[in-house]
Amino acid sequence: MRAMVFEGEGQPLRLVERPVPEPEPGQLLIRVQACGVCRTDLHLLDGEVQIAEPPRILGHQIVGTVESDDPVRPRRVGVPWLGWTDGECAYCRSARENLCPNARFTGRDIDGGYAEYALADERYCFPIPESYSNEQAAPLLCAGFIGYRALRMCGEAQRVGLYGFGASAHILAQVCRWQGRSVFAFTRAGDEATQAFARELGAVWAGGSGERPPEPLDAAIVFAPVGSLVPLALRALAPGGTLVCGGIFMSDIPSFPYSILWQERAVRSVANLTRADGRELLELAPRAGVRTHVTTYPLDRANEALADLRAGRFTGAAVLVP
Ligand SMILES: [Zn+2]
Ligand SMILES: [Zn+2]
Repeated sequence: MRAMVFEGEGQPLRLVERPVPEPEPGQLLIRVQACGVCRTDLHLLDGEVQIAEPPRILGHQIVGTVESDDPVRPRRVGVPWLGWTDGECAYCRSARENLCPNARFTGRDIDGGYAEYALADERYCFPIPESYSNEQAAPLLCAGFIGYRALRMCGEAQRVGLYGFGASAHILAQVCRWQGRSVFAFTRAGDEATQAFARELGAVWAGGSGERPPEPLDAAIVFAPVGSLVPLALRALAPGGTLVCGGIFMSDIPSFPYSILWQERAVRSVANLTRADGRELLELAPRAGVRTHVTTYPLDRANEALADLRAGRFTGAAVLVP
C-alpha cells in the first residue's frame, strides 16, 4: 500500500510503499476512503507535539470500510484521535478516558490514515451516519469531536466567540445556530473571505481577532494556536464567562492584569476526546443539519494540503482521498 510517512521533525512527509498491515484480534483492517487533515498534524511536523517512535503514518480522522466485511455492504467506520486507553486508571474509571496517562493516539502513537489501509481497535471506532459522504464525514472525527467537547465546556453560554474560524469552528457555528446560540467569529485581521464564510454559516458577527465584539461574550473558544489571543478573548468576556483553549499546542500566553480574569471568568483547556463525545456529536450532527465544507487532495499531495492549512488557503477542512 502507499502511505505518507513522518520521518522526523521539520521534514516533509515521504511517500512510501508498505505491506498492507495484518489485523490482530480486536482490530479492524480498514480501507481508507478519506482522512481529514488536522492542525495537530502541523504541530507534529513542527515537533511542537512529539512523536516518540518515527517513522509514523499521520492522520487521525479516518473514514473507511472494513475489509473483512461482506464486500457488497461493508461497514463504514470512523477512526478518531483516541486510539486506545488502559481502561483501568482513575481517569478511565471516571468517564475521563481523554486524560488517560497511557492513552495511545491515532497518527501519533499508532499509524494513522494518510495511507490506503489502517488498523484500528474496534472499540474506538464509530459508525458513520449515512447522510455523510466519506469526505464530508472525515472532519467530524476530530474537528467535530474535540470542538464539541470544547463547546460543552462553555455550558449554557448564549453568546459564543470562536477565535480561529477553521475546521472546528465551521462545524461548531452550525451546531450553535441549531442550539439557538449566537456565534461571534474571529479570524486573522483582514481575512474577509473567512469572515464571509462564518456569516454564511450563521455567525451573527465576524471580524478580526483584535476587534471587540459588539456585545460581551458568555464564552469563547480559542482554536488558533496563538497565546496572545487569550488576554484578547478574556477582555471580550462578560463576568462569569469561560474561555476554552481548544488546541493541543499554543504559543506562550503573555501576562495580563488580574482585572480581566476577575469576576469569575475562567480559563481552561480541552484535551483529546472521550468516546462519549464522539457518539454525541455523530448523533447530533445529522439532526442539526451540519454540513462540512471540504477541500480534497489526493494522498500523495498530503504535504500540499498541510502547507495550505498552514497558510489558511482554504475555508473549512482539508481531506486526503487515497
Ligand atoms: Zn485533530
Ligand atoms: Zn486510563
